[in-house]
Amino acid sequence: MNSLYASLGTTVFETMSRLAAEKGAVNLGQGFPEDDGPRDILEAAARATLEGPNQYPSMRGLPALREAVAAHYNAHHTLDLDWASEVTITSGATEAIAAALLAFIEPGDEVVLFEPLYDAYLPMVKRAGGIPRIVRLQPPHWRFERETVAAAFSDKTRVVVINTPLNPSASVMNRAELGLIADLCRKHDAICVSDEVWEHLLFDDAEHVSMLNLLRDRSLKIGSAGKMFSLTGWKVGFACGAPPLTELFAKAHQFLTFVTPPNLQRGVAYGLSKPASYFTDMCAAFQRSRDRLKSALEGEGFVTLPARGAYFLSIDLAASGIDMSDEAFARHAVDHGVATIPFSAFYANPGAPALVRLCFAKRDATLDRGAEALARAKRALA
Ligand code: GLN
Repeated sequence: MNSLYASLGTTVFETMSRLAAEKGAVNLGQGFPEDDGPRDILEAAARATLEGPNQYPSMRGLPALREAVAAHYNAHHTLDLDWASEVTITSGATEAIAAALLAFIEPGDEVVLFEPLYDAYLPMVKRAGGIPRIVRLQPPHWRFERETVAAAFSDKTRVVVINTPLNPSASVMNRAELGLIADLCRKHDAICVSDEVWEHLLFDDAEHVSMLNLLRDRSLKIGSAGKMFSLTGWKVGFACGAPPLTELFAKAHQFLTFVTPPNLQRGVAYGLSKPASYFTDMCAAFQRSRDRLKSALEGEGFVTLPARGAYFLSIDLAASGIDMSDEAFARHAVDHGVATIPFSAFYANPGAPALVRLCFAKRDATLDRGAEALARAKRALA
């Protein structure tokens, strides 16, 4: 048996969703929208299923979808992606992360990561033989300076994995921060694997800058149709990068999933033809949900952290008068009717801040019930 997997538990998202179902709790844990994405995209996929073909599409993805992805990013980020040589369609962003790490790392290479880190990164880095070098970011703003990050790089650094907007902290890296990572990648001959799946979920004045704009030849940008169109179960992801990176990446992808269902690819290609207003309307709707949950929680004496990207809002337990670890509070809260995600799940080392993450991509009634259950959980401790 592989010792890495033997030592791992089940992901916190699956665990909390299962607990929520068992206990009939409101599920503000795992990040997924309560309402499925646009009906016309579902119909486009349904038509594609019935009309076929439902056979293997091209290994790198249906040309129509690769063209749509390149056109979308070229317009959105002012890029010049060539769909044929620079875009690969994957079975979700997690597959793209796995394929990138398998393709870019040699055993013993160092990989720079930022903590809090999405739970899939570390096991994949280690399974690919990489040696993690972790930079810890601090709440409430999760910003970083050159010295902190530069100290994690060495002549063995091969890859740096970034995630912006960052799950779970809901912070967004700014141009200066991305610029210094780009400089360090050039200096150390490293590749940046840039997980940008939350790129379209931005609030207030937050702006998403793609690493491809700053490090065109050395970064692989990963995107997700699941996040763009509220269709997380479809698991359709995109990986974009310069031809030599895409070449190598596709060799790993071809022996992981090989292809992604063609009907879903056609649905997503259709979705990408939506006007820019689709994305701004989606953000406005999620922002209203964020504000609703935030004010309900504040009304109950909870203190939340800024949430500028992705659909997550975090509660600062200590500041809210709760003297408990994040994991203990998450267990306590689910018993009182609401599932959350404790931040420790996103930390490789001890000392995670006592925060719990809430997904606000839910209907108003669900958010209200979730906030009430959290208030009950808090009162039960008093
Ligand atoms: N990305 C989702 C989250 O952060 C979880 C995805 C999963 O469950 N694998 O909640």
